[in-house]
Amino acid sequence: MTSLDDLPIRDDLRGHVPYGAPQAPVRYQLNVNENTHPVPQEVVDDVLVDLATALQGVNRYPDREFTELREGLAGYLGKGIAAEQIWAANGSNEVLQHVLQAFGGPGRSVLGFPPTYSMHSMIATGTGSTWITGERDADYAITPATATREIERLDPDVVFLCAPNNPTGTPLPIETIEAAYEASRGIVLVDEAYAEFARPGTRSALDLLPGRPRLLVSRTMSKAFAFAGVRLGYLAADPAVIDALRLVRLPYHLSALTQAAATAALRHAPVMLATVGDIAAQRDRIVAELPSLGYRPYASDSNFVFFGGVDDPHAVFEALFAKDILIRDVGIPGHLRVTAGTAEETDYFLRSLAEISPR
Ligand code: PMP
Repeated sequence: MTSLDDLPIRDDLRGHVPYGAPQAPVRYQLNVNENTHPVPQEVVDDVLVDLATALQGVNRYPDREFTELREGLAGYLGKGIAAEQIWAANGSNEVLQHVLQAFGGPGRSVLGFPPTYSMHSMIATGTGSTWITGERDADYAITPATATREIERLDPDVVFLCAPNNPTGTPLPIETIEAAYEASRGIVLVDEAYAEFARPGTRSALDLLPGRPRLLVSRTMSKAFAFAGVRLGYLAADPAVIDALRLVRLPYHLSALTQAAATAALRHAPVMLATVGDIAAQRDRIVAELPSLGYRPYASDSNFVFFGGVDDPHAVFEALFAKDILIRDVGIPGHLRVTAGTAEETDYFLRSLAEISPR
């Protein structure tokens, strides 16, 4: 049998493993931070109408500029952001790939602050960029001083900041983003995949866009918006950045069906986001209850909770799996991560964890 190593694959891909969060048909899928609430039926019905219209025209290529969708996304973000400042692709993963195709690549470095979203380093590798890592402070925080120090030390071409951070849930102060921008000469990308779940008073990097042409803020419809299966991520930045991304995208990369579904769903943004408050409440409940089971949860601004104090993460993962629950072992010794879903899912997760925990 031929193995990967037998192929004339790029040297810098040898020995790498693909992204591989388990996908298993268990009842409680709490491992990839989806919104576990289904799309409301009234939205499904309305999206179907637009999909039917789009299907009637699929003999033609879709609008390469996804104009209506960009207008919808700009309207959703508000803050005076114009459609010319919006980019979108098949998930924010593809958005990040476009960013590194345009601004990273061979001979260029991308700085991240691990532990962080695993795809950041994989997209860096996939685009031939060099992934370099900075140090965080205690409890996974990054202060403005730390960001400045690490950027000055490593002089990256691109900085990836994750706000809040995955897998730890750690908030990122807006002052840190400002400091990172000041300290760097290159692109600063803030990944705000979970922004809608932030606790009240949290400021978005979107507020920093005016006057900062090297600042890029990515978002997604995969999390709060309950639209992961559609694959729609987006970014806001200076219009010149959008022109740069046009150079690397494949023509017609957003299918007519994707554009139609996402545009229709955006018209229902308040309904689509109605579950966010309850999910945040379940997250806060998990954070509040884990200590009584002997675990150490971290503060979270996302729809998941990262917790330490786990003697044997693999054993806990397996014991929960046996109870039909999938959570995430992110490979950090003594820690696990769980997605906050419905009240019923949280009840079952906490009850099951109590049953298998030593105290
Ligand atoms: N950024 C972060 C921090 C994430 O956690 C995820 C999904 N796990 C993504 C981006 C990618 O999301 P998508 O491609 O579905 O938009």
